[in-house]
Amino acid sequence: MHLDDLPRLARALRERLEVNRLFGWSVPLRAAALRPKGLRPPAAVKASPAPPVATQRAPTAPQELSPGELGAERERRAARLAPIREEVAHCTRCALCHSRKQTVFGTGDPVARLVFVGEAPGFEEDRQGEPFVGKAGQLLNDIIKAMGLRREQVYIANIVKCRPPGNRVPDAAEIGSCADYLGRQIEILSPEVLVALGTVAVKALLGSEAGITRLRGRFHSYRGFPLMPTYHPAYLLRNPAEKRKVWDDMQQVMVRLGLKRP
Ligand code: SF4
Repeated sequence: MHLDDLPRLARALRERLEVNRLFGWSVPLRAAALRPKGLRPPAAVKASPAPPVATQRAPTAPQELSPGELGAERERRAARLAPIREEVAHCTRCALCHSRKQTVFGTGDPVARLVFVGEAPGFEEDRQGEPFVGKAGQLLNDIIKAMGLRREQVYIANIVKCRPPGNRVPDAAEIGSCADYLGRQIEILSPEVLVALGTVAVKALLGSEAGITRLRGRFHSYRGFPLMPTYHPAYLLRNPAEKRKVWDDMQQVMVRLGLKRP
């Protein structure tokens, strides 16, 4: 080992400790992270093979673009999302329009390779107009960070765009009224992977009556986009022991995206 490797090793150790802190468990520091440069690279994270899906990859997949082309594609997608955002802001399709402070359209990078979909805005989201900004949002940020990404690098949206009163679960009619908006969003975003957070999002996107416990842990397909169901961060706040399963699911997502564990 050369002295020049020390800063890199210290950074690897800090990142690993950070993942451990976020998830509250002890993950052994991989020996590969301490391997001097020039030796065999770290092995990829293993995961069960995803079922074949009819890919609907955008013809302009972000990772295939030059920085200039990526910037232009980002602007193009943002311009296509803007009128839908405007439509949502004035939407009165269902009764949730009467109780909302504002609509919560979605946030993130229009060329994100990874899109998270949750259930519905809560109190803080309704107040701030952004999804996942409360305690559950902080945990989602931690999960994203543990994957080696930043919140600004992904896109986050909900099944319904208005807060149900008292944070109740949105009903089937409300979900049906709002589904078209998310569908159009996803078509424009063309993510490489969708992550559905929680039972409501999973059922709405997959149209399945099977419980999330049965569906999580393997890829499904939403309109041809690979979809990984996993538990909602709010559920994890109540059941921290389930974080391990979410991390397992996210590792499969990382494999699909070619991301290495930090
Ligand atoms: S929840 Fe969706 S369909 Fe209902 S009013 Fe809000 S934006 Fe419109």
